[in-house]
Amino acid sequence: MKKNISRRQLLIASSVAAPALLLSTRLSAAEKLDHADPQAKALGYVENAEHVDSVLWPKKKPDQTCANCALYTGAATGYGPCSIFAGKDVAAAGWCNVWAPKP
Ligand code: SF4
Repeated sequence: MKKNISRRQLLIASSVAAPALLLSTRLSAAEKLDHADPQAKALGYVENAEHVDSVLWPKKKPDQTCANCALYTGAATGYGPCSIFAGKDVAAAGWCNVWAPKP
């Protein structure tokens, strides 16, 4: 049995599918920030905050990590977005010299 899809049904289906597709694209993990990236190097980014060179980066305090930085919007573990490094994910356990406390 053949069923014809009306133009209205097609429009409704596409209006639901398009935002869902965009959302799924945004939810997929971005590329991880490479610590060798020039901007990352300039800001002292490391994936493990315990490995920060305190001579080069004296501002670093023991409790500072990306996970508790105001610019980080990811989960408490793993990787997530940082507004300084658009389009890349930083490590929740990482750190850079732009670190700022969450409000
Ligand atoms: S700005 Fe904050 S979240 Fe982004 S890399 Fe630096 S410490 Fe991590």
